[in-house]
Amino acid sequence: ILDVHIAPYYSQGWQQRGAIMVLHDITAIRRLEKMRSEFVANVSHELKTPITSVKGFAETLLSGDVPDEKTAKQFMQIIYDESERLNRLITDLLELSKIEKQAMPLKITDVDVNEVIKNSTLTISNIASDKNISLHLPDNDQPIHIEADSDRLGQIVLNLVANAVNYTSDNGDIFIDVKEEPETLILSVRDTGMGIPKESLGRLFERFYRVDKARSRHSGGTGLGLAIVKHLIESHHGEIHVESEEGVGSTFNVVLPKTQKET
Ligand code: ADP
Repeated sequence: ILDVHIAPYYSQGWQQRGAIMVLHDITAIRRLEKMRSEFVANVSHELKTPITSVKGFAETLLSGDVPDEKTAKQFMQIIYDESERLNRLITDLLELSKIEKQAMPLKITDVDVNEVIKNSTLTISNIASDKNISLHLPDNDQPIHIEADSDRLGQIVLNLVANAVNYTSDNGDIFIDVKEEPETLILSVRDTGMGIPKESLGRLFERFYRVDKARSRHSGGTGLGLAIVKHLIESHHGEIHVESEEGVGSTFNVVLPKTQKET
């Protein structure tokens, strides 16, 4: 898209000698505007869905039209769960906006990656065992040191493992591995889950992109987890790659430099 300005060009006196044309490529600006307005529309939709549900069930409870105590309890549980989801959504949105504005500088220290993996998988191990999913941590649990923000690294691991648990059916396996290269470290999370269709792989890290919206909502997902993960990895000057086969499983590979340059 071009923004065109034309102005007459005069030289010496009032005689017009020509014209000046200024072409301004505003494609990037328009694209940004479009992305921003799509984002606002997405956010509004994501916020509205739980609010509609909370409002509806609260209205029914208030009207006194609920047949029995058990049904009333179920409605209250829905209100509670949907409020929790709103809470998560707002937390994730704030988090994403802080990362994008770079308002949260990393606290780089010497971090033992195996220690971070152990701590962050602890929080998810209950959900995994409820589904009888086995979490396989790296075979070698000797300390592996890199320069990173320990909390952020924990968040990356937690998000990837939580997704692996979420999108793997009962009795599956999740393998977490760490491989050291001379300059980098490769952390991988592999699951034996439902996999991701080829056409979705390129969009996975977009905000609010989900392969199956209903399933993601049902499991309490906000659709922002992988967008946050990608930003956190990039702020560590790393990369994330995904390989997947439908019905077989997915592998997320995180490549992180072992040392962080001063910025
Ligand atoms: P959500 O909150 O929906 O999980 P994410 O940003 O974490 O959002 O992930 C985006 C989408 O990527 C998910 O909705 C899901 O469709 C897909 N996805 C993520 N991780 C996996 C995985 N391990 N296996 C299959 N699909 C996955």
